[in-house]
Amino acid sequence: MKRIISYLLLVLLVVLAFWRIYRPVRLWEAVRPMMDTVVTVKLCAKDSSTAQNLLTEVFQEMERIDRMMDNYSPTSEITSINSMAGKERVSISPEMGQVLRRSQYFAGLSGGAFDITIGFIKELWRFDSPNPAVPLSGQLAAALTLVGYQNIQLDAGRVRLLEPKMKLDLGGVAKGYAVDCAVEFLKERGAKSALVDAGGDVRLYGKKPSGGDWQIAIRHPREKEKLIRVGKVGLPAVATSGDYERFFTKDGKRYHHILNPHTGYPARGCVSVTVWTRTATDADILATAVFVMGPEKGMELVERLDEVEALIFFEKEGKLEYVVSPGVRDKLSGF
Ligand code: ADP
Ligand code: MG
Repeated sequence: MKRIISYLLLVLLVVLAFWRIYRPVRLWEAVRPMMDTVVTVKLCAKDSSTAQNLLTEVFQEMERIDRMMDNYSPTSEITSINSMAGKERVSISPEMGQVLRRSQYFAGLSGGAFDITIGFIKELWRFDSPNPAVPLSGQLAAALTLVGYQNIQLDAGRVRLLEPKMKLDLGGVAKGYAVDCAVEFLKERGAKSALVDAGGDVRLYGKKPSGGDWQIAIRHPREKEKLIRVGKVGLPAVATSGDYERFFTKDGKRYHHILNPHTGYPARGCVSVTVWTRTATDADILATAVFVMGPEKGMELVERLDEVEALIFFEKEGKLEYVVSPGVRDKLSGF
């Protein structure tokens, strides 16, 4: 009898061991409001506790980035940099350094279409408040003198804003950077595959548990319910900037939150821009930059860069049109 029980126990242990090794990988998902949008994280893991821990911690990681880069927080690193505008140099974290360097790089490449010194002008429009309004033109003209990425002096571990009262705003890059940090975190912690989506700034790696590729769809810029399906592009990050995300209308005119740093007014050339590339930081920056540059100059920039693809919607004589770069031309459907 004893021998039979020992034998059964052994069989049970072997079965359990096999189950632990060969049990199927499953998809786990969590959704949270964050950074003025909705963040979704999907990941593959075998057991519930590993997955739940990873999900909790990956959101903490993104919150950490948000706390550094949030202009509205009095204790954020970006606020402390802004508070020293026109004064001394400020020591910055390596992460802030990375974001500022990347922003400056694309500011140069885009001829100042992307410019994080837009902060003061952005505040005048009050897009983040319940009552945004067109600023007085005199106010805008005065604020424009505080815009200019050349007035950011960046060297190893330090930054200095040359003009008093100038203000940095990382709204066009922080979400992308947070998505990259989330992905790096998940990779480091051993998650075999994941998708992180911060309101349309997406990065993914690996495959779904079924073995298939992660699917990405883009919202149609004028037909809310319509989704543009995207086939396999082969680039892990994608971001969209659109004039429908944050806007108000006055006298029949749409005013949205992607601003032309040269005029202080919303950029008029595009309706929406989707950019695919290697990192969510670059995709986020480039979507905003290309939007401001407009379809022609924007697509020129895209084609000049390696491993960058784009879909640009714009209006011509009241009609919605689009241009698309060669690498995604045959990959889009549903519109
Ligand atoms: P969303 O935040 O809706 O994804 P974007 O990535 O295009 O859209 O970012 C828009 C935000 O970027 C604005 O709310 C503002 O904070 C900032 N921004 C607006 N215009 C510019 C610009 N020309 N250069 C850099 N940042 C900008
Ligand atoms: Mg952006």
